[in-house]
Amino acid sequence: MEMKIEDACIEIVQGDITREQVDAIVNAANSGLRGGGGVDGAIHRAGGPAIMEECRKLGGCDTGDAKVTTGGNLAARYVIHAVGPVYRNGKHGEADLLASCYRRSLELALQHGCTSVSFPAISCGVYGYPIPEAAAIAVRTVKAFLKSNRGIIYVRFVLFSEDVRRTFEDALNEARES
Ligand code: ADP
Repeated sequence: MEMKIEDACIEIVQGDITREQVDAIVNAANSGLRGGGGVDGAIHRAGGPAIMEECRKLGGCDTGDAKVTTGGNLAARYVIHAVGPVYRNGKHGEADLLASCYRRSLELALQHGCTSVSFPAISCGVYGYPIPEAAAIAVRTVKAFLKSNRGIIYVRFVLFSEDVRRTFEDALNEARES
């Protein structure tokens, strides 16, 4: 499924983000940038040790922020390590922090000359963010960014499971009307 925004396009697909042929893929990292399970583990496994070598030099990353490394052996030139919030009850600034992750990732992608970026469902795994809320924030934030910035022409949400993919599609459909 896709949506056009100005000269750009948001696309939602189901798949493994490590296989994406884009300029940058975004990692759902932790604040230590130490690697871990889920999509983080998959990216480090597929990309090889060069990514962790760079991560070690970055001194961690605040929640809501992002940092860039090489893509190592991946087809993507860069990995943008974004640190999403751990969801508690929604009253700890989680929504703003999650939106900030998407915005910072796109800002960094632009700064590095990327025109295509793929995102996973940040915070939607072990960090426990309710998927419908996270999907709405993700789609809304990316849409707003593409409306007010030129340069990135292709943003893909690459969702691992069918239910998460469907939930993101629902969010994209709702965003069409707003
Ligand atoms: P977080 O700690 O931010 O919650 P997780 O890695 O636990 O991050 O989960 C984020 C999302 O990434 C989940 O929806 C999970 O199913 C998904 N995921 C796991 N592996 C991959 C992969 N290889 N490609 C894309 N998405 C993935």
